[in-house]
Amino acid sequence: MFIYLKKFNIFILYPILFIVNISFAEDRTPLQIRVGAYDNRPKVYANEYGTIEGLFPDVLNEIAQRESWHLEYIQGSWNECLSRLENNEIDIMVDVAFSTVRSERFLFNKETFLVNWGTVYSNNNNHLDSLIDLKNKRIAVMKGSIHTDGDNGIKRLLQQFAIDCEFIPVDSYSDVLACLSNNQADAGVVNRIFGTLYSKLYDVKETSIIFNPSHIKFAFPKQSNIAFMLIDRIDYHLAKMKEDPDSIYNKAMYIYLSGLPRELIFAKTTTSGHKIIPLSYSEKIWIKNHPYIRFGVDPEFAPFEYLNEKGELNGMTFDYVELINQRLGLNMQVVKDMSWNNVISNAKIKNIDLLPCVSITNNRNKYFIFSTPYIQFYRAIITRTDMPFLTGIDDIAHMTVAVQDNSSHKEYLLDQTKIQPKVYQTLKDALYATSNGEVQAFVGNIASSAYWIRKLNLVNLKIAAPTSQEAQTLHFAVRKDWPELVSIINKGLASLTQKEERDIRKRWINVEYKPGMDPGVVWRYIFQIVCVSCIIVLLFLFWNFRLKNEIKKRIQADKELSEANERLKKLDQLKSMFIASMSHELRTPLNSIIGFTGVILLGMTGPLNDKQKDHLTRVNNSAKHLLNLITDVIDISKIEAGRIDVYPQDFMLTEVIEEAIISIEPQLKSNNLTIQKFVPDDILLHTDRKRLLQSLINYLSNAVKYTEKGSVTISVDVIEDKIKVAVKDTGIGISQDDLPKLFNAFERLESHLKIKAGGTGLGLYLIRKLVTEILGGDVFVETQIGQGSTFGFIIPKSISLKHNFEK
Ligand code: ADP
Repeated sequence: MFIYLKKFNIFILYPILFIVNISFAEDRTPLQIRVGAYDNRPKVYANEYGTIEGLFPDVLNEIAQRESWHLEYIQGSWNECLSRLENNEIDIMVDVAFSTVRSERFLFNKETFLVNWGTVYSNNNNHLDSLIDLKNKRIAVMKGSIHTDGDNGIKRLLQQFAIDCEFIPVDSYSDVLACLSNNQADAGVVNRIFGTLYSKLYDVKETSIIFNPSHIKFAFPKQSNIAFMLIDRIDYHLAKMKEDPDSIYNKAMYIYLSGLPRELIFAKTTTSGHKIIPLSYSEKIWIKNHPYIRFGVDPEFAPFEYLNEKGELNGMTFDYVELINQRLGLNMQVVKDMSWNNVISNAKIKNIDLLPCVSITNNRNKYFIFSTPYIQFYRAIITRTDMPFLTGIDDIAHMTVAVQDNSSHKEYLLDQTKIQPKVYQTLKDALYATSNGEVQAFVGNIASSAYWIRKLNLVNLKIAAPTSQEAQTLHFAVRKDWPELVSIINKGLASLTQKEERDIRKRWINVEYKPGMDPGVVWRYIFQIVCVSCIIVLLFLFWNFRLKNEIKKRIQADKELSEANERLKKLDQLKSMFIASMSHELRTPLNSIIGFTGVILLGMTGPLNDKQKDHLTRVNNSAKHLLNLITDVIDISKIEAGRIDVYPQDFMLTEVIEEAIISIEPQLKSNNLTIQKFVPDDILLHTDRKRLLQSLINYLSNAVKYTEKGSVTISVDVIEDKIKVAVKDTGIGISQDDLPKLFNAFERLESHLKIKAGGTGLGLYLIRKLVTEILGGDVFVETQIGQGSTFGFIIPKSISLKHNFEK
């Protein structure tokens, strides 16, 4: 038996093991994959050493590593790459916009990598809001771009609307923006990614005209044997990476699209928490060749940057400069004893290399390039306390307004308002002028104004109103011929941890400034004391009385300040709402699509044949659908950021219900449904009318959408100081299992009406948010599958603003 086994070992088992071993070894040999690469920063490009990198390669490399593929990048022009793809000489081509024509030539993966579109930019001489404004304009476009000559490119688009204009073809997107900032063109077209990244280098502004959205994907040869396997694996990993906020995909998207250095995607973190950012060889050499970098500050721009009594630099900026100096081996040194006006004129002639804390203005753009923003601030109007209540910049249009010379506020007033400000050399002078009645208002940075008001003890001044809800950003401004330094500083800024930045803010924003430190104030007190000692008891009493008043006012000023701070914190949250602002941008072009197609459908531009009518109706409906979706998204993101305007007012409930019913009447008619109403007509409410109406319309339109025959009933009951509103239908109903999902965002339940009814899955979610967070109530639903549903809410008859602020 033993001998048999041994023989079995030698003659049978060993050869089997040998074969298995070989096939395992073969399995481990990585699959060789040829990838086409061309030059289109930041999506794909060759770096200074010829290595291919960019959004697409970085993500593809990660997928290849997970799948044990070996990638070989084959470089070529765009057209070379496409013909290689067609001849199966490469296996994958990155960064290809999907189109039906192209899908006849190549295979595409399913998961969209990103969506790109054409954006129109203008310069300061032109204000462009919609396509119509492009009439008779000179438009710079890139030759051969899909946004120029493609099926949905700008040329075709303007031709379709019969808008005449002159096209100026140039070789690259950079040339488009250069043409525009030199005034050789009135408008220019670039893709959104290029625009986002590079428009700041030119004197141009983005308009709300966008067009030609395209889905950018990976493409594969039709005749490839491995294409389907590659598509399957790439889609799998891409979908997973999109979900994970820390994935290479999401990091690369953020970092490339915000213009931060690529190394950050892969940066490791030290034990103290900050990211180690490798400097490139050329950056190291640059630092070595520039052992001393001179920077200038506004000596009174507290708490950002200012010189103290001993002439030492203080403030947030100083902390940032110190950290970046340490971390990157730079030697940035402040040039002292210069007024802000002197600093600016020296910086313009490059006697000063850097301004570490300024905002971007058109004029500064001519002399400097800017780092990524690192501090936010708000612009405010300061007046005397006895001035009337202000709501914003429009209220001071007719007043005499002070502003500091060479400040971004001066440019803001001159460029964006009709105010002709009175210019003062320093911020202090401008505040004194406001305090003693020389001018009626002052416009400046809220934080530094608050600092000087306290320090100079100008108790008769108040922060009256913000100029807008938009935060301004502060940047390092570097002389134009030193772009390397901007990239180095950006790396330094990116290496800071959230904690480091929080600590800096904490240290400087809440500093208690003791009055009396300033020599001017000391002298004022001495003068006052001398006077007081010379005056009889009566005046002494009067002085006491005044002092009390001052304290009261100071407490009031402090209160206003902390309220302003609170408001600013909330606004800060709001700023980060990319979705909301993005959605807002989309509304303008959508409105013009709806408007134009509406006009054409009404036959105002000539007769249409049936096919045209059908197509245009679809465009019009889709645009309306998208607009609804966007409006919902804006509302939701506002509520989620805790910032939605609440306007309680007195009104009769019946009126609002009537209005809601009228707005869904066309749907009722087309579905052949009747509506019944059981609403007492004496209910007076004090709540947010608009939000109540919005919730009612959403419920009613759902009831109509999901009811094939029968009726919809709206009824109201009063329960003490609350009302219960119920919208009942005889529709398809909802299964008990689906109930927990009902009020979630983007949740659409399976039903035979789903496609026909159309919808976004946001309606109920928005109602829940509105009812619970704005109207102070709760929602409910009772339903039975096949029998119908009753959706409703219970809300207080009266809400106070206090209720909403406490939320
Ligand atoms: P949608 O835009 O799809 O209507 P909603 O958030 O308003 O989005 O509703 C979410 C889902 O809840 C709907 O897709 C539908 O399946 C279900 N639903 C809402 N209202 C009703 C109703 N009155 N009857 C039956 N199903 C409903």
